[in-house]
Amino acid sequence: MRDTAGGPRVLLKRLRELMQEPLEPQTRLDRIVREIAANMVAEVCSLYVLRADSVLELYATEGLNPGSVHQAQLRLGQGLVGTIAASARPLNLSEAQQHPAFAYLPEVGEEAYNSFLGVPVLRAGRTLGVLVVQNRTKRTYREDELEALETTAMVIAEMIATGDLVRLTRPGLELDLTRPVSFDGISFNDGIGLGHVVLHEPRIVVTNLFNEDSDQEVRRLEQALSSLRLSIDDMLSRRDVAFEGEHRQVLEAYRMFANDRGWVRRLEEAVRNGLTAEAAVEKVQSDMRARMLHMTDPYLRERMSDFDDLANRLLRQLMGHGPDALAQTLPKDSIIVARSMGAAELLDYPRDRLRGLVLEDGAATSHVVIVARAMGIPVAGQMKGAVSMAENGDAIIVDGEEGIIHLRPQPDLEAAYAEKVRFRARRQEIYRELRSQPSLSKDGVAVDLLMNAGLLVDLPHLADSGAGGIGLFRTELQFMVAATFPRAEQQERLYSDVLDAARGKPVTFRTIDIGGDKVLPYFKSVSHEENPALGWRAIRLTLDRPGLLRTQIRALLRAAGGRELRMMLPMITELGEIRQARELIDREVRHLSRFGHDLPTQLRLGAMLEVPSLIFQLDELMAAVDFVSVGSNDLFQFVMAVDRGNTTLSDRFDPLSVPFLRVLRQIAEAGERSGTPVTLCGELAGKPISALALLGVGFRSISMSAASIGPVKAMLIETPVAELRAFLADNLAGNSAELPMRMLLQGWAEEHGIPL
Ligand code: PEP
Ligand code: MG
Repeated sequence: MRDTAGGPRVLLKRLRELMQEPLEPQTRLDRIVREIAANMVAEVCSLYVLRADSVLELYATEGLNPGSVHQAQLRLGQGLVGTIAASARPLNLSEAQQHPAFAYLPEVGEEAYNSFLGVPVLRAGRTLGVLVVQNRTKRTYREDELEALETTAMVIAEMIATGDLVRLTRPGLELDLTRPVSFDGISFNDGIGLGHVVLHEPRIVVTNLFNEDSDQEVRRLEQALSSLRLSIDDMLSRRDVAFEGEHRQVLEAYRMFANDRGWVRRLEEAVRNGLTAEAAVEKVQSDMRARMLHMTDPYLRERMSDFDDLANRLLRQLMGHGPDALAQTLPKDSIIVARSMGAAELLDYPRDRLRGLVLEDGAATSHVVIVARAMGIPVAGQMKGAVSMAENGDAIIVDGEEGIIHLRPQPDLEAAYAEKVRFRARRQEIYRELRSQPSLSKDGVAVDLLMNAGLLVDLPHLADSGAGGIGLFRTELQFMVAATFPRAEQQERLYSDVLDAARGKPVTFRTIDIGGDKVLPYFKSVSHEENPALGWRAIRLTLDRPGLLRTQIRALLRAAGGRELRMMLPMITELGEIRQARELIDREVRHLSRFGHDLPTQLRLGAMLEVPSLIFQLDELMAAVDFVSVGSNDLFQFVMAVDRGNTTLSDRFDPLSVPFLRVLRQIAEAGERSGTPVTLCGELAGKPISALALLGVGFRSISMSAASIGPVKAMLIETPVAELRAFLADNLAGNSAELPMRMLLQGWAEEHGIPL
């Protein structure tokens, strides 16, 4: 930058003054471009802003035809300006007309200018516009001039983001940043949430852009960097991360990046150009994010989010923001929008202020989703790009029924959703009224409707859903949300809290079911498995690590002292596994009684039926245990050879098909024959239509998520079970069924006025 024109520091100072003056937005913009042109000794300076219809509109110019302001337009990708916006990269050209993308716009009158320097106006990795300077002479702009223009573009990004320019837009031509957008993803938990965006680990808004004294600011930056490094070292040396595992690798990567010379140099350069340390972090991060946007390499993209996290941590160091400052200022209808999130982080938000959760990544089995489900909040996932499109405080709707979100929705859409919420609330009211009614079918058959649980947050639902007890308590969830193995006392405390909360209603604890898709970050199982679902998991793993199982058994026995204990073993493949587990249990019982501990009044041991091998030894199985619980999620995946987590195949095969229903009937009948109680606790039990099929093949006990109890009970009360059983018997015999079973069941339910 030439000294005669004052350099970047003088320019930034002038811009700051202009931002503070009480000017009309257009006047402010006109003055800004004039100031930039003068400072950079350029004949032209122009600003193009990106509209919602992907058109770049000329908003201000010094040097080009003033009549073309708000008239001249380029599509995204069209011309030099459109190319910069589309690629989010600057262009520095000494002969602009020679560039293949050059497009001639007669109204602006730029034919006289040869050299061209244009930079994207970026905010949080999104392009909001393009800022350009031009000169008649053929010259290449220097690196420091490019830096200065990029820094200026940041100031303009701030003006756009804070809504300063909205008043300059004509009706129907909104700016890209304010337009309504919808994202299509996947539903992770049912429910509708209307509220306002809270960005998880929000991009901290930097309001103080310009420094007074570069040397002092560089020192501030250095101090913050060294505190950041210390805090990472500190995390690495803490006992709970001193294990091998993903957590540690992530932190190691952070440490490496915090010392990355290139990153630190770019930060310092930006401060030397006049920015505050905070603004420098934001600028460097924004540039990097925009460049990485086009990378497809998953490893590099993953590294980018590490850098993002690191930049956020650095900003917090600089601004002295504690992580809990946000929780206090949280809106009452918060919808958390996050790239990804740990389960424990969600629990940090006060439940009474949460209306929904949106994730860019995640899977239905992610820990955070399991926790969100337990908290009863709607969750939509796989919303690529949601974080960068959303601003804190934006209105948003999460449709967990369909797996859609609407950001900045139009009023009529919002009204339609508000109606939907009211409708769902009325339905919930009906379910609440059913709560106290006995769980009997229309023809008086008693059916146990139980709920699935796994964390303390589930327990209030036991009372408010009217469930008859807990049919499946997934003990591994406590292990999954923890940073290290929960100690024996912690396990015992949870189990005894659960039994206290159940107030005498039956609770079935499943012993720890890890492996497969349930990995503990702090526990290295085996090196690599080709087929983890068929691998070292559940009972297979715990029998090989008896210390783990014995600790849990002891915690369960102690927690249930003086009351009944029901324990169930996951993924049993052969009866020998039940025998082995029983031996361990007996040993623990002997141990506790030797030391005079209170023992359970009754101990009932059950097996989960998830592996098809048990279907061929049903009578022996029934004789070997006190009860059986069908895990339909796993049983279906193994009977049909279809991965339960594979979304491409999820609708391909129907559990309500003749062969699978025959399998289920066989199991229910074996239970009836032997007098061994049989329950089903997979997802199948939670949908009224499939629960109807289960009643029809003989199940008299089913366990589901708490939210499903109401709808299933509403179905049960209207169902004549004996008639249904005869109907299914007819249709499961031979090849008589002409239509798919699901359709036949739907038709039958409709004829009988059964709500599904
Ligand atoms: C099942 O497999 O159906 C089951 C209930 O266990 P999980 O879903 O926890 O594997
Ligand atoms: Mg299972």
